[in-house]
Amino acid sequence: MARLVMKFGGTSVADMDRIRNVARHVKREVDAGNEVAVVVSAMAGKTNELVAWCREGAPLHDAREYDAVVASGEQVTAGLLAIVLQGMGIEARSWQGWQLPIYTDNAHATARISEVNGTELIKRFKERKEVAVIAGFQGLHKESGRITTLGRGGSDTSAVAIAAAIQADRCDIYTDVDGVYTTDPRVVPQAQRLDKVAFEEMLELASLGAKVMQVRSVELGMVHNVRIFVRSSFVNPEEIDPRANPEGTLICDEADIMEQQVVTGIAFSKDEAQISIRRVQDKPGVAAAIFGPLAAANINVDMIVQNVSADGATTDLTFTVPSADYERARQTIDKAKKDIGYDRLDGATDVAKVSVIGIGMRSHAGVAAKAFKSLAEQKINIRAITTSEIKFSVLIDSAHTDQAVRTLHTLYGLDKK
Ligand code: ADP
Ligand code: ASP
Ligand code: MG
Repeated sequence: MARLVMKFGGTSVADMDRIRNVARHVKREVDAGNEVAVVVSAMAGKTNELVAWCREGAPLHDAREYDAVVASGEQVTAGLLAIVLQGMGIEARSWQGWQLPIYTDNAHATARISEVNGTELIKRFKERKEVAVIAGFQGLHKESGRITTLGRGGSDTSAVAIAAAIQADRCDIYTDVDGVYTTDPRVVPQAQRLDKVAFEEMLELASLGAKVMQVRSVELGMVHNVRIFVRSSFVNPEEIDPRANPEGTLICDEADIMEQQVVTGIAFSKDEAQISIRRVQDKPGVAAAIFGPLAAANINVDMIVQNVSADGATTDLTFTVPSADYERARQTIDKAKKDIGYDRLDGATDVAKVSVIGIGMRSHAGVAAKAFKSLAEQKINIRAITTSEIKFSVLIDSAHTDQAVRTLHTLYGLDKK
């Protein structure tokens, strides 16, 4: 007997047929004698629709009311799955975030989980063999008593947090791909599924654009040592032997991976914008005058490139921000123009960041240099570069994203043989 968390994403619960399919996956595990907590997302497209309604209501809306609206998608699927499971003769009960409760801070729309109470779930596993069906993505701010949500893709984080709280043996993330690939298989058909990926690498892949797992869920998994397994919900539920090792990708400690490649995967993100400040005063305190106000406005700055000044008096400074914050960032810099002292501000939103990730980079030199040469041969211009211990990123024109990802995927020997 094992204790499992089974999380199903939006495409896996997109309609009643898919919800019935999910129920059959759950039945298989229950019949095998396992204790099961299921975490569900909203039906595919539902959260987008709810977000759009909030924006239509008022472009600058109250985040507490946004959460009240967008949390509703998961309420529907949790109740529906419980109904379908009960119809199949399985004891099941749905749980909203506030009912468990899943406590979070009060950063509405991007809340972080602070505490999950799993006592009642465990009691019901033991006393009634009851399956818990939990609405993902949502929580409760204890002090105000208001509903919160965990940021887009947040059901992954609900699942991992619940797995930690109930000491689950495994947290299965069922999705529309059968594991974590060397890059998005929708963009590169030659991408290969990874049997295992280290937490650190998954953290980088997720934060640099691979949306298969929400970043925060990987962080939580790493801290609480949760065995996270990414697998497909589109396999015939009855064809899986619950006692055999399932097909998919295990996210685990680096030490559990025998053969470490230099490059594990490639991620990309088109949600980037570039801002260049021309002829900035080249004197102490200027970087603080630029990045201080951006930080105060809660804008995350990512890549920063400052040219060496040619005349000793002025220089150019380029940085990137999330495209959603582009206008706000421009306005913030504009307001601080007197303190900063610059000539002109240029910006671009048609840029993309392509990142190469691998723990093996720690012990191999020249990994990035190879990429620069290969992109140059493809006539892809690099606007900015950043590197860290286990990854490097290049900023390019977004029109060349797919070509750049494919080129690097082949370059590092990741293509399916
Ligand atoms: P869910 O609704 O189940 O949470 P998501 O759409 O959030 O699913 O995430 C799954 C998607 O992530 C896949 O369909 C795939 O296109 C995308 N993806 C991006 N990068 C990767 C990767 N490296 N490996 C697997 N999937 C990836
Ligand atoms: N339904 C939410 C979203 O679309 C949460 C999730 O799917 O994980 O972002
Ligand atoms: Mg997701």
